[in-house]
Amino acid sequence: MHSKDTIFALSSGAPPAGIAVIRISGPAAGGALERLAGRVTAARKASAAVLRDGEGVELDRALVLWLPGPGTATGEDVAELHLHGGRAVVAATEAALAAIPGLRRAEAGEFTRRAFANGRIDLAEAEGLADLLAAETELQRRAALAAAGGVLSRQVENWRTRVLALGAQVEAVLDFGDEDDVAGLPPDFSPAVAELAREIGLWLDRPLVEPLREGFRVVLAGPPNAGKSTLFNAMIEDEAAITAPTPGTTRDLLERPVAIDGVPFTFIDTAGLREGSADAIEVQGITRARKALARADLILWLGAEGEGPAGAWEIAAKSDLGRSKRAASATVSATTGEGVADLKNLLVGYARAALPAQGAAALNRRQHALLAEAAAALSIETSNPLIKAENLRAARIAFDRIAGRASTEDMLDALFGRFCIGK
Ligand code: GDP
Repeated sequence: MHSKDTIFALSSGAPPAGIAVIRISGPAAGGALERLAGRVTAARKASAAVLRDGEGVELDRALVLWLPGPGTATGEDVAELHLHGGRAVVAATEAALAAIPGLRRAEAGEFTRRAFANGRIDLAEAEGLADLLAAETELQRRAALAAAGGVLSRQVENWRTRVLALGAQVEAVLDFGDEDDVAGLPPDFSPAVAELAREIGLWLDRPLVEPLREGFRVVLAGPPNAGKSTLFNAMIEDEAAITAPTPGTTRDLLERPVAIDGVPFTFIDTAGLREGSADAIEVQGITRARKALARADLILWLGAEGEGPAGAWEIAAKSDLGRSKRAASATVSATTGEGVADLKNLLVGYARAALPAQGAAALNRRQHALLAEAAAALSIETSNPLIKAENLRAARIAFDRIAGRASTEDMLDALFGRFCIGK
């Protein structure tokens, strides 16, 4: 990265808006502020200033902040310009900044990437921040806030410190030349390793963050005319639409992300599951339906009792036409609305239990895989101190990778690419 460059970007939403905030970060931030405002304003105080371009033409009367590094979000010198949020005001100010030598427009996520590079946040916090910016429901916001606030980072740092201390105990034994005897280890060594593995295991058992990010996937399935589409519409009606990413959406599957009681769901209406169709398009639709079923967090089965996929909820539909005697998780009439609210409540309760708990930091798949490696290494039974030392080292490396101490450029590109420009 060109970390000597000074970057700038509009960090607030798209103009026009009441206020537009342009952030400038890097060694030339103070110089840029001086060029525009005529002076470097008092540190960490809001100051009113008339901003002018290189020709002295007035750009705006703004509120400016001068935040000298390293105690800033990026760890660098930062200046903020709080402008009137008009398109032309922003465009003219950006043009004036671009004309200053050493300044360039920031790439997506570049401010956050600098915060990471300068040790202001670690990788787990950056991942939480990305989720926080993408959060559309209350549950997503709280989990992301916990991660961005460093709940996992502090826990991992605690484990890392303990693993290093345990490693030092093994090294001491090795230094005495006792290479095949662990008798020299203190009696609390093994219980301490076991306790570490146990604590990590508790985190591994928690629900992952991805279903929270994508919404809890509820697939409606059953033969044609079972009432799936009508129920689908009844389920999403009046609910807040959200824009969860919907990988693999096709014309034959209807996916709709909605939030119910702050819980993110994606409802998926599938083509009827019917064997032996001769229609090529229908066959394709059925293939896609089967894929959707495989990815479902929960299936609502509207077909004949007991014929649905394993684990599916039996739904007795069209209850207005007469109550069936079938055993069912819910009895609904999508046309009269009977039972629809009850079904939603059941789903909310079920999804809440399967999603990360309110406000608890949850692991993403990457973090989960690394912690599983650490737990596996710590659970290996051996009396050989050399192997003990190696296992502790393996755990420490996994912790380092969670915090981003040993992350590759590819992985950083992928993460920071999720941010928008200006963040
Ligand atoms: P799908 O093929 O499984 O998606 O079924 P549809 O939702 O298209 O419904 C098939 C037929 O059943 C349509 O004529 C609907 O109007 C009707 N239908 C769906 N739900 C109900 C219901 O709750 N009560 C009644 N009386 N008819 C329903």
